[in-house]
Amino acid sequence: MINLYDLNFDELTQFVLDLGEPKFRARQIWEWLYHSFVVDFDAMRNLPKSLRENLAVTANLDTSKIVADQLSSDGQTQKVLTQLPDGQLIETVLMRYNRRRTLCISSQAGCAMGCVFCATGQMGFFRNLSVGEIIAPVMRFARQLAAEDQRVTNIVMMGMGEPLHNYDNTLEAVNRLTDPTGFNLGARKITISTVGLVPAIRRYADEGRQTPLAISLHAATDAERDKLIPINKRWPVAELIDACRYYIKKTGRRITFEWALIAGENDTIEQAQALGKLVQEMLCHVNLIPLNPTKGYGGGPSSRERVDKFQQTLAQYKVTSTVRVRRGIDIQAGCGQLRDRIVNQTID
Ligand code: SAH
Ligand code: SF4
Repeated sequence: MINLYDLNFDELTQFVLDLGEPKFRARQIWEWLYHSFVVDFDAMRNLPKSLRENLAVTANLDTSKIVADQLSSDGQTQKVLTQLPDGQLIETVLMRYNRRRTLCISSQAGCAMGCVFCATGQMGFFRNLSVGEIIAPVMRFARQLAAEDQRVTNIVMMGMGEPLHNYDNTLEAVNRLTDPTGFNLGARKITISTVGLVPAIRRYADEGRQTPLAISLHAATDAERDKLIPINKRWPVAELIDACRYYIKKTGRRITFEWALIAGENDTIEQAQALGKLVQEMLCHVNLIPLNPTKGYGGGPSSRERVDKFQQTLAQYKVTSTVRVRRGIDIQAGCGQLRDRIVNQTID
């Protein structure tokens, strides 16, 4: 069985030719996939019945099953947990904010990076997702939104997994989602978030893409970052910041630093000052997000006062920052949290 969402247009064309069909059928199927987001081959009405039947036995579309579908109490955040044929569980979150419809998607089942505060890091690594597995949830939500006359406006790769640890599939998924003949989302509308894999950041910079990059920094000194993010021992803060500067130089694009504020841990004046010194004069922005508590980690979110103080300290260095509200807390919308709750059978 071939998953059609795993194929690019040339591969789809070859697949169609191999079935003994004329080439133009590939374009028709492509449009059913990326303009109509159909779930079964029978819906592809302009294809002959024989081809639809042939497709049904040789290919598949979205192979996942919905295991949980939850809406936050304010109705703005929806989180879906799907199960892949081999049992892996993948999370996707839709956030509605004003006219934005932002999807948070996953790149891996689990994660190998082991960040101590992260629910996905706590579960360990299972496997990479294929291109089709990365984008199928986007098509699912696109279909749901289309029924309301809406569309996906932004995508953030901030669900489960480290996107740059699954580099080729992640970037191919971006290609697919931005293809003007297909899903046609603007490259600037997709954010890739990375824990800081230095060689991959440099490689990404060299590609000169328009897709924005966010770096999960969370600490500005090695002593602090080592405690939170094990990969920091391999690529320490100075090397990471060098790679970020290289990215900015190569692309001319602003970089975003993510900072989960953990009470009494990385929300100190000292850390704010160290961060200010580290990134002042850099083309960057800092997102401050009070920690979303997870089962495997004792830390909690910083108080409002601490958050404000942290932000004011950054401003002294002319570093701009935004405090992000934690969305969908009541549905475990933090990375990896819903899977955790389902697997451990604690769902109400
Ligand atoms: N692996 C990538 C992308 C997925 S994690 C990365 O680490 O960047 C997406 C973001 O959520 C990262 O910034 C990550 O540090 C953050 N995050 C993970 N667990 C969190 C938690 N419990 N509270 C707040 N942010 C968290
Ligand atoms: Fe992996 Fe990102 Fe979680 Fe770290 S924060 S464990 S890199 S998903």
